Amino acid sequence: MILEAGLAPLVGPRRGRFDGRKTQTVGFEWCVMENPFETIRYLVPFGPKEVPHFFTDVLVIGGGLAGYRAALAVDPRLRVLVVTKADRLESNTAYAQGGVAVVLHPEDRFEDHVADTLLAGGKLCDPLVVEKIIRAGPDLIREIISWGARFDEEGGQLAVGLEGGHSRPRILHARGDATGRELAAVVLSRVNAAPNITLWEHTFAIDLLTEDGVCRGALVWNKEHGKTLVWAKQTILATGGAGQLYRETTNPEIATGDGLAMAWRAGAELRDMEFVQFHPTVLYVAGSARHLITEAIRGEGAYLVDRNGYRFMFDYDPRGELAPRDVVTRAIVAQMAKTNHPNVYLDLSHLDPDFVRSRFPGIVAICAEFDLDLTRDRIPVRPGAHYMMGGVTVDAEGRTTLPGLWAAGEVACSGMHGANRLASNSLLEALCFGGGAGEGASRSAGEVSDEFRALPLRNDRAAAPEDKLDLVDISNSLKALMWRQVGVVRDREGLEEAKKQIEHWARYVLTRQFRTPAGWELQNRLTAAWLIICAALTRTETRGAHVRRDYPESDDANWLKHITLRRTDQGTSISFQPVGGYSRVELKSAGG
Ligand SMILES: Cc1cc2nc3c(=O)[nH]c(=O)nc-3n(C[C@H](O)[C@H](O)[C@H](O)COP(=O)(O)OP(=O)(O)OC[C@H]3O[C@@H](n4cnc5c(N)ncnc54)[C@H](O)[C@@H]3O)c2cc1C
Repeated sequence: MILEAGLAPLVGPRRGRFDGRKTQTVGFEWCVMENPFETIRYLVPFGPKEVPHFFTDVLVIGGGLAGYRAALAVDPRLRVLVVTKADRLESNTAYAQGGVAVVLHPEDRFEDHVADTLLAGGKLCDPLVVEKIIRAGPDLIREIISWGARFDEEGGQLAVGLEGGHSRPRILHARGDATGRELAAVVLSRVNAAPNITLWEHTFAIDLLTEDGVCRGALVWNKEHGKTLVWAKQTILATGGAGQLYRETTNPEIATGDGLAMAWRAGAELRDMEFVQFHPTVLYVAGSARHLITEAIRGEGAYLVDRNGYRFMFDYDPRGELAPRDVVTRAIVAQMAKTNHPNVYLDLSHLDPDFVRSRFPGIVAICAEFDLDLTRDRIPVRPGAHYMMGGVTVDAEGRTTLPGLWAAGEVACSGMHGANRLASNSLLEALCFGGGAGEGASRSAGEVSDEFRALPLRNDRAAAPEDKLDLVDISNSLKALMWRQVGVVRDREGLEEAKKQIEHWARYVLTRQFRTPAGWELQNRLTAAWLIICAALTRTETRGAHVRRDYPESDDANWLKHITLRRTDQGTSISFQPVGGYSRVELKSAGG
């Protein structure tokens, strides 16, 4: 049976009363639709006698800041395998420009950073998690400095920058605007030096392996060995975000939402999937790979002007260019519509050119590639998909709802960002939860018996063979559709249309068998897009990073809660969770 209509009709609804005081799921609906997103468990066939096996104590999927930090936190007596689908330094982390938000300055206070984070998060942050991460910040930074990270200094002190939504300067940066690359290089060099850690780059994780509701590792693929069953006592998912679902994005090619889709197929819970952050200022020049222009540039005094040179931000918010990114994004979208122009402009011509060149050398170079002088010219920008607030639900230690599986970084939903991430908070979260998940997985792996072995798992899914599908064409169509209908401004009609279209594509893309990452990535992109839309349709209000044209107001009376999604044998489970309740829920982990 295929029931097309969004989250309705509901078959056999069981609705509970939502009770914000309880910590477990109390209201839920079953949505039964026989579509491939619900029925397909593994993307490819495999059998224990046909593929090689590899055993490790801890498997880390993803080589960004969260994944490498997690690997380093595992007890050095345990074996760790890190797999990453691209080059070992290619990740969202490596592109992070602005910096890391941390309370180090004597005049700054933890309470202020917490308050700024909660304000940006649209009342959906978990205050305990926010506090935990922010208070851990100074030690995490001291640790990474002791490992060799070099942040920029001013007068012998760490230099701190200001970004939108922060009430005071607290953003540490490295090499001007190359903070992510500096941090990634430092953790990677320690990973390379650690005798217990093995790193397989260009190795694609296709699916998590589960038996009896416990994660046992992953099925991975690389050119050398083909498919390999990696059996792990504990697995950590750190696959980053999903910006590549959108036509306009700051994210590199790797950000295809693989971890979200893998976790979904394996039955782990996902939360807050409707919340995608759009960065307000992405370079908009024909032929450029949509480079991000860091928020820090406005922190240092850049103006936003429209096609007529008018500085418009104060028409929308008294904080002007320093309003949080959702406010700036919405203002830009509105001003573009008002002036009937495809972009607005950043103007730094009033700032000292030498300062601009030394503070933002990377952006100066990128602009120069397109014959633009950052110190003098108006730089065309518009919003682009930037960060996934939603993700795999984790508790305060990084455990997912699937025993044996942990998650950290952008793929996870920890409660730090709520409905809208505060600028420069994600590197800090990746460090904190990466380390936490690594320690937790390490402890749990130590408790799993050494009789741990390969399971007779196999998947004989019959599927249409890979044939002449134009994957790039479908992928581009998906990106355009997501940008048009599931972007900054949404409504029910557009979301339903997008959902229907994606379900149509899924019926002939998900039911095929691919032999290379391009096909699996497309299957994952479609799955992640579908999940975003399911959640976006459910939340009938405007909150955080996007606007519902048909529900333009925030509705605190009904919507101060999280939407969670989980694939079950009965279909898609959509449930609601109270804000902040989740971090205290006790979940059972494999062996722990
Ligand atoms: C342009 C840009 C600027 C940013 N600036 C800032 C900033 O200034 N401050 C800040 O706090 N945040 C910033 N962010 C956000 C921040 O960089 C990310 O949220 C953070 O780095 C995510 O880290 P991660 O380890 O979770 O994921 P990533 O760093 O994205 O790492 C994910 C890893 O998983 C691997 N992977 C994915 N799928 C698979 C698969 N199927 N199999 C195997 N491996 C897989 C990838 O290859 C990659 O190695 C920025 C992001 C971008 C794109």
